[in-house]
Parts: sequence; structure tokens; C-alpha cells
Amino acid sequence: MKFAFLIHPISEGTSTLIDLDLGARLKSAWGQDSLLFCAKFHETVKQSRAAASSPASASSPAVRVVDEMRGIVSELNAEATGRLYEIPLAPGQFIDHPRMAVEMMGEAVSMARDWGAELVGLGGLTGIVGGQGVQMAESAGIGITTGNSLTVYSTVECLRNLCDELGLDLSQESVAVVGIPGSIATATARIVAESVGRLILVARRDSTRARKLAKSLDAELILEIPSALEQTGLVITATSSGGCLDQKWLQPGSVVIDVGVPTDVQGSSRERNDVMILSGGQTRIPSSIALDSRFLWFNQGVIPSCLGETMVLAFEGRPDSLSLGRNLDPSDILSVGALASAHGFDFSLFRSFGLELEDTELVRMRKRLARTRMNEALSSVRRAESSASDSSQTAEPNRRRATSNGNGTGSEAGTLRHVSANNPQRSLENMAPNARQKFGRYLNPVLMELTESTDFSKTFVRGEGAYLYDCDGMRYLDFVSGFGSVNLGHNHPNVVSAIEQALREKAPGFSQASVNPLATSLAEQLVSFAPESLEMVFFTNSGTESVEAALKLARTATGRSGFVYCQRSYHGKSLGSLSVTGNSDYQRPFRPLLTECRAVPFGDLDSLEHELRSRRHAAFIVEPIQAEGGMIVPDRDYLSRAHTLCQRYDTLLIVDEVQTGFGRTGRMFAVDEQSIHPDIMTVAKSLGGGAIPIGAMLCRRDLWTKVYGTVQTYLLHTSTFGGGSLACAAGLATLDTLQNGELIRNAQERGDELKAGLDRLCRARRSLREVRGCGLLLGLEFNPMSAAAQGHWKQMAQTRLTRRLVPGLDKMLETMSALYTMQTLLSEHRIYTQVTRSNPLVMRVQPPLLISSEQVNTFIDAVDACCDEMEFQRTTIRDVLAKTGTGRHNAKGQSADDKSPSIREDAEGHPLAAQRPATK
Ligand code: PMP
Repeated sequence: MKFAFLIHPISEGTSTLIDLDLGARLKSAWGQDSLLFCAKFHETVKQSRAAASSPASASSPAVRVVDEMRGIVSELNAEATGRLYEIPLAPGQFIDHPRMAVEMMGEAVSMARDWGAELVGLGGLTGIVGGQGVQMAESAGIGITTGNSLTVYSTVECLRNLCDELGLDLSQESVAVVGIPGSIATATARIVAESVGRLILVARRDSTRARKLAKSLDAELILEIPSALEQTGLVITATSSGGCLDQKWLQPGSVVIDVGVPTDVQGSSRERNDVMILSGGQTRIPSSIALDSRFLWFNQGVIPSCLGETMVLAFEGRPDSLSLGRNLDPSDILSVGALASAHGFDFSLFRSFGLELEDTELVRMRKRLARTRMNEALSSVRRAESSASDSSQTAEPNRRRATSNGNGTGSEAGTLRHVSANNPQRSLENMAPNARQKFGRYLNPVLMELTESTDFSKTFVRGEGAYLYDCDGMRYLDFVSGFGSVNLGHNHPNVVSAIEQALREKAPGFSQASVNPLATSLAEQLVSFAPESLEMVFFTNSGTESVEAALKLARTATGRSGFVYCQRSYHGKSLGSLSVTGNSDYQRPFRPLLTECRAVPFGDLDSLEHELRSRRHAAFIVEPIQAEGGMIVPDRDYLSRAHTLCQRYDTLLIVDEVQTGFGRTGRMFAVDEQSIHPDIMTVAKSLGGGAIPIGAMLCRRDLWTKVYGTVQTYLLHTSTFGGGSLACAAGLATLDTLQNGELIRNAQERGDELKAGLDRLCRARRSLREVRGCGLLLGLEFNPMSAAAQGHWKQMAQTRLTRRLVPGLDKMLETMSALYTMQTLLSEHRIYTQVTRSNPLVMRVQPPLLISSEQVNTFIDAVDACCDEMEFQRTTIRDVLAKTGTGRHNAKGQSADDKSPSIREDAEGHPLAAQRPATK
């Protein structure tokens, strides 16, 4: 459907005025965003006018089309085409000569009708003169809308999102709505009335309309903006006159949502850093709409919601006069909002003076309000504790909140209120919708952005057995198992009931330097299953902590300070364990680390012996299988021979079973395969049953005694949380569950099936190089993507990643085959996978131990389908390059620079060096 939208310049000759506006009066009247927009927009209009018109017509500007939005598509695939018509009048002229304005608008509407538009949206002041569209609708013969319904919807959404971001409970807050009885303010007040603690309506004049509204909404009516601002710091302002709110009047911690056209808040920028001023009535356009319009708003991807409403109705093919006059229908507002969201318009944006609000501003305001609330709560408790007579002298009156406990009397004296058992606000379902945004804001913006733009991650809200569930209820087969921490599957009933039992029995939270039966029983069980040599246990909370404990023990026990570790090893990221982690990318930024740590190639006994011979090393630390290094399996007798060498040179052997332990490799511990008896062993991950963090360092009794066995030394190494009740309950349940051997046996059998199936694929598929590993600790190595295919991916990826992330792209592209499979498995086959940390070409194949043969086959088929797709794409790219003559490949698909030593590819664009014979 075709639609039109009317706009007008901010003033005559805006750009000139801006140049001359040294006192920034214009800026302060309009706000920076609309000013900048109008300046540029007006310049464009002036240029096209100068080019097209005679001097006579230039002196009497006429209504004209200034932009066209051709074939825009919503996320529901609905199409529409729109034109923007300029009414060449400045705001003052609209107010002073409304009749002339309405005449010009009529002209624009008839031009639009002639063009074929079925709906006209009224932007800016065109939506105010002529009875908010009523006059225009009477004569137009086509649909007319002010778009105000969606403006109200987006304003209310802004308020709700804001409260969520700032940790405010709207039902406890006072909210002032300025601009009564204007249509936007009135409708906004009607909608928010039900959810706010207290509503204050602000009108400039006393009127029957305003009084009636206040009465019907049980709201207070105030005629002075400053006095309303004394009552609350949460303000929505939507007048049509603009410039009515001085920032100086705001209480510290106030937040204003300014929907006014022109803006109601004075000033072109925030003048105080203790308040927040947001632009209301805006929406982000659906991502499906190309940003190729000259229209400047589109370039930022944000438009006024009134244009949004016009577009939504056009997408729907509904030329309805939806929003006319002063009385907007709340049900229309909610339904157009729901439609807009379905078409992909997004209302979760916070903008201030033309710019996206910085995360840090939201965070600061949230902190400020949290502090204020805490202080209010404390003084309220104090007030309640003291006598009733002095309650009036204490703490500053609570102006922001409607009531402090719902009845305005403060909290109950001296009683500790229990938070209700089920806090709906804290349900996963409730917290999930904004979780990604918060992840980016508080945890890791780069990870969020990367995974978002490449569809690599989901927000999982439930886990059961081998499945994870996202917030839309979609089920995913988990082939990551929390990097080996969920061997038993998610929420294993034995683990859940053990934790529940401990809670039921009211097990002590933490009680250091005392005896906890859960911890002692777990230590006993751990030792029973551990290699013969190990008898003593130190509980930790993570793998890296277990490694730290091992390194410290080894140093003190031997009186030596060096360590030998393996290239590509992974032992953790705290300073000690990082020193023995064979990945210089991880180490470099944190150097200097522990000195005297020497890396040797994994599996190379000669190099190991060479290092050990110096007799300066306390221990050799090694993983039975290098999981993070790319699932590298050493020769069968590597560990036992390494142990013999260690013994020869009086060096301790630390075996890191953090990832290989607890059934993962088809044995309780990987060392069991060769009956190795290390001096020290580290565990963590799955010991917690996939539920609670817990790790441990196990060691020989004599070593422990030597290091910690005196009154002076027994507390040299401790950890506050180590051996906590719930963690130990989970640990005991884990060992009890693994004890009957079923899961471990299953790991062996399903692991063999997986390995055989993937091996078959490796022989058939050119993208795959090799499958390695043991039990259910497998890695599927991909071949690096060819240079030609990389070019194709680069283009695709660049459009999706932000400029900040693009520089890292080249490195990522090499590993695109694994990443592509990971993404496709997730989005199309609903299988969750990850790559190993140190080698992104290796996909970890690491499902929970309870996986079934059927699930194994599902995985193999899905990987096969991904390879098929990759091969198809590769052939297509090669053909395109050959046909267009733009690639390095000729029509036969041979690489033109095959001789180049850096790129040696086969016909499929595959590196020859890595090539296996194809059997398919
Ligand atoms: N050692 C090994 C073998 C590991 O695989 C890991 C984690 N992947 C660690 C130590 C470190 O464990 P955490 O992340 O719990 O510190």
C-alpha cells in the first residue's frame, strides 16, 4: 500500500538560522536531534528547489515531495511505499496561520491521493492544527492519522522499560504527566493510571476537561510544572508548545520522558548529570527495512512513532483514520503497538538529545536510585524503631515513591520481613527478555555483540537432561555440557534431591574451621574413587583454584619453584594456572607471570626429560587429553612414561582431570585407563553435578603432611567457600550416581558410536579433517576455509558486525567452517555446540553422559547436512567467481594461483595440505 507522511521544516531557512544562532536559542527551543535533522533536511530541500524551480516559485515555496521510501518491507514481509511531503511552513506560521497550514496540508493530501496514497500520516505540527487531523479527515477521501496512538504506545513502553532498567517498581512510583488535556498526554495518563502508584496530571490552565480526567483517573491535578516536579522525579511531558520545562526545576535523580513537539525540556543538552532526559515517542525501524533513503531519520534507524504508525497501517493494508482528535482509544493504542512490534518496530530504545543513551548513564542512574532506596529503607526502619512522635523529624520526606510499603506508614518496626518464597519478578521467564541487553551492559559487550550478530548464542532458561530450552520454549540438544561440567545432564534428579535434602535439613550455609559432615563424606568418597596414591583432599570452587592449590603444594613440598607444562595446555586463567597454560594469547597481556615455567610439546617425552634434567622443577602438570587445546590425545603410554621420568628426576606429577574427570572419557578418571598414580590430581567441573561449583585438589598424604602438617602450617592454604554444604551435597550425589557405572558405560558406548559416525563423515566431507578424543570427550576438527570462500563470508559478516568488531574478522574467517556449522547447528538443527578455547577449528563434541543413540545419530546427520550446505555454497561461489571472471579460479574451478605457497587448494577451494582422500 502507498502512504504519505507530512513534515515541515523547523523554521524558514533553518540552516542559515543555525549559523546565525550564536546564542543557541533555536537549539534550546527545539532540542539537538530535531535541529540537526531539520538543518540537514532543509539544506537538501533547498538544493533541490534551487535546481528545479524558477525564481518566482522559489520565492513562494509550495508543497512538494521531498523523499520517497520505495518498497520497504516489514519483518512480517509486508510491503509498503511511502512519500514524504513537505509543508513549507515554520512552526510559528502553523500557530499563527492555522488556516493557511490546513490549506497547504489539504494540497499535500490531494497530491498524495493523486499519486495513489491511501493513507496520510500527519507529522509534527501538521498533527496538531485542524483539530488533530479531524478537519483533514473530513475532506481527504483517504485515511488520515496523526500517528499519535503509536506515539503514546512507545512513550508508555519507554516508561516501562526505563523502570525495569532502573530497578523501579512502577506500582510504587509517582508519575507526573505534563500536557493535559492534550491528546498524547491524556491517552498516556489513561494507560499508565492503572499501573502507577500515584498519578499527577499537569495542565497549564484549569479546565473542566482536565478536572474530569483527574477525577476519573483518581489523579491529582496540578497547574504548575515546578510544583509537580517537587512531588515526583518520574515525568512524562507531551505539550505542543515546547520549552516549558526548565532542567533546573528537576529534583536530583529525576527522569523525564519528553514527547513534546517541539521538545518540552529546555536546552540542547543535559545540563546536569544527576538527571536523565529521554526522547519519547520514537521507535526503531524494523531491521528488514534497508536504510537507503535520503531521509535522515532512516539513517539512524530511529523514527518518530507517528511515522511508525502510518507505516504499520500501510504494512497492514489498512487505510484507517486511527488516531484523530483529542480522544485516542486505549484499545487502539495497544493493538497498534502490538502490530508494530510484530512488524519488527522496536520500542526498547533510550535516546537523549538525539543520541543513543550510553549504557553507563543508565547504570549510574540505577546506582543512584538504588542508593536512595537503600537510604530510604534504612531511615524508614529507623523511623519505625523510634517513637511515633519523632518520626516527623527524621529522614527527608519520600517524594519519589508513592508509599514506602503500600500504605504510606513506613515499614513495620523491628520485624524482619521475609521475601516471599516465589518472587515472580525473579523468575527466569520474567528476567529473560532483557537478559541479553543486560549481558552486554554489565558482563561482556563484545561477546554479546559477536554472538548476537552471528546467531551463536541463545538465552537459555531451562535445562533438563541433555536438553536446554530458550525463552521461547525451543528445545536444544546440548553438545557442550557446560564445557564438561554437566556430565550428569541438566538438573539430574539425584543432584536436585540431594540439594533439596540438604536445604530441608537446614544444612549450615558456611561454617569454616568446623566439621561439616557433607564435606567429610564427599572427601571420603572422592578418595575412594581416586587413584591409589591420592588420600588427602582440599576443596575449591573452580578448576583454576584446584590448580593453584596443586602448584603451591608442589612448590613447598619439593622446595623447587619451576614447573614444566605442555604447549596448548589449559589449566585456568588465574595468575598461577595461567603461567602453566600453553596459550601465549592468554598469557601475553598479563605478563610477567610465574617465572621458571617451561613449556614442552604435548606427547614429547624427550623434551620433557630435557627440562626435568635441570632438577629445578617442582612438578610437571599435564592433562590426560588436551581438551581446550583442541581435543588432543597423546600416545597411550605417554602419561605413564612421563610419570617414570618425573620420578627419575624427583619431580611431582600433577594430572589435571578438571575436564576429563567424572566419567567423561568412559572411565571415572582418564588416568584409570593406564592405572597412573599421580602425586597430585585436580578436579572440578562435573563434581558439582552440573548444579553447584566445586573443585578439589587431591594429593599424596606424605606431601600434605610435609606442607601443611604442623600447627604453624595447617591453615596456610584455605578457601572460604571450599567444601560448602550444598556443593558437597551435589558432589556426593554425583559420585553416587556415577558409582553404578551406567553413565560411564554409556559414555564409552555412545562415544564410540559418535566417533565412528563422525569418522565416516570426515572421510566423506571435505570441510572436515578429523575426529579425536575418548568417550564423550571428542573434538571434530574442520579444515580452514579457503581464501575464495573467505571473501564471500567476509562480505556477509561485515554487514552484520559493527565497525568495532570487524578488525578481528580475518582471523575469525579462517575458522568460519567450524563457526558456520556451530551457528547452523544452533539455528536450524537446534543443537548447541561450541569450539575449543585454543583452537576454534575444533568443535567440541561433548554431550552429557546420558545421551542416547538416537541423539547421537541426530547430531551426526545434522553435521552432515551442514557440510552439505557448505559444499554447495563453496561450489556456488566458485562458479560465480569463474563466470564473472573476478575470482582467482578459472571455469574448471582450478585456482589460478595454485602455485602460490600460501594458498594451495583443490577444485573445491580446499587447502591441499590438509586434504584427505574423499571417499564419497
Ligand atoms: N583445567 C582444565 C583441564 C580445564 O579444562 C579447565 C577449564 N576448561 C580448567 C583447568 C579451569 O577451570 P575453571 O574454568 O573452572 O577455572
